[in-house]
Amino acid sequence: MENEIISYPEMCQREGLNLQQGMNFRIGGDYSVILMSLRQNAPYRDQVLDEGATLVYEGHDLPRTEQTTDPKSVDQPEKTPGGTLTQNGKFHEAAQDYKAGHRPPEHVRVYEKIASGIWSYNGPFQLVDSWIENDGKRNVFKFKLHAVNEGLEPAKATLSEPPLGRRVIPTQVKLQVWKRDGGKCVVCRADDELHFDHIIPSSKGGTSLIAENIQLLCARHNIAKRDKIQ
Ligand SMILES: [Zn+2]
Repeated sequence: MENEIISYPEMCQREGLNLQQGMNFRIGGDYSVILMSLRQNAPYRDQVLDEGATLVYEGHDLPRTEQTTDPKSVDQPEKTPGGTLTQNGKFHEAAQDYKAGHRPPEHVRVYEKIASGIWSYNGPFQLVDSWIENDGKRNVFKFKLHAVNEGLEPAKATLSEPPLGRRVIPTQVKLQVWKRDGGKCVVCRADDELHFDHIIPSSKGGTSLIAENIQLLCARHNIAKRDKIQ
């Protein structure tokens, strides 16, 4: 579920595999998985734009080897030396094929690292664009994704600019809430099965942008609250 907080092993278990890399094209059968981080020491420059509606995800570097001692000084690869597409190449091809009208947008599940060993499910996205840009030293891939609502059929999704769909909670807000609530449910102090909960739900106009409207709730109290609102 969106905004759920999980450990690394839980995340891998849920996706049914060991997520060793940040970009995982089509590992879910009919969807892809990416791992992002907006932390200061994060290896890639991912960005959340349009007040949480859009994610611009940076492609990934060559692996560090004896030949490539500084991957950050080398163009991000589209193909392997053997000529097959890298993860950058696969996502790029999917985005370009979508833009050319050859396919619906790729569905992508996004997880965000918020602290060491602690991940948050940022929900479902659609891959709508990709390009190569120079970061000052070398060429990197950029992938544009729009947040969509859970259960949205890929073909039925409407893509507007700026998108009208879901908004993700900004990283800074998540970190602030995590710290303020001490990593525990604000009702019962449980420290497992936690979610970032909107105090005023977004469906009722509640914002994702300030910590005052977000709190930590365990699954039990999250469900109890939802039943009360409905
Ligand atoms: Zn609780």
